[in-house]
Amino acid sequence: MKKISFGFIAVCIFCLNANAQNTPKKDNGGITPEKLESWVPVPIITPGNTNADAPSDAIVLFNGKDLSAFQKKDGSPAKWQLDPEGTVTDVKGAGDLITKQAFGNCQLHVEFRTPAVVKNSGQSRGNSGVYFMGKYEVQVLDSYDNVTYSNGQAAAVYKQYAPLVNASRKPGEWQTYDIIFTAPIFKDNGDVEAPGRLTVIHNGVLVQNNVSILGPTDWAQVPVYKKHNPKLPLLFQDHGDNGNPISYRNIWIREL
Ligand code: MG
Repeated sequence: MKKISFGFIAVCIFCLNANAQNTPKKDNGGITPEKLESWVPVPIITPGNTNADAPSDAIVLFNGKDLSAFQKKDGSPAKWQLDPEGTVTDVKGAGDLITKQAFGNCQLHVEFRTPAVVKNSGQSRGNSGVYFMGKYEVQVLDSYDNVTYSNGQAAAVYKQYAPLVNASRKPGEWQTYDIIFTAPIFKDNGDVEAPGRLTVIHNGVLVQNNVSILGPTDWAQVPVYKKHNPKLPLLFQDHGDNGNPISYRNIWIREL
């Protein structure tokens, strides 16, 4: 192998250096690295130890103790059953579980469990739902080995978007949704300025990626937006039939 002399290397370094110095400096429009830095303080919060624990800036809607954050549609006390282990279960005739507080843009964490004893099939098996603003449903269903229409299975934006994958756990096992909801914006004349959006993570898996909501959830109609308040209550669906004693726990929300 040929040896390379130190003299040769020194000449190369000299040439490279001379070339760099001769290259005209790019006009960077007065931008310096420091001008690209933002030092506006970012709020400091304390995250939970796991994503089941509410971070310090969250509103805890249900911590296993009481249903004081909820009511029925008519404003009377919520009738879902409080369980000794710190969960809440839909019971026949209880009606929807609706927050007293109204929310717009938000991040929601919720855990749910469909019945361990499977009785029915399709949409009659563990059906509930998380309705943002009481209008836009992320489906809750036992979708473990349970065929139904794809845009009606668990984590679907009901009748609008099927989840990217089916990340469901077995009946009777606890599951998580972490959902980011952006409320729709309406013009004064009622037209939609910006549709609502949903991102859903089901059991740690991204299943809805910032999808554009087509309008309020409807079982039998094409969704059509209708202007509403910028904040409205969150609703957990009582599907109203016998196959759906769904349980929830650890429900917290962060306004965005
Ligand atoms: Mg439902």
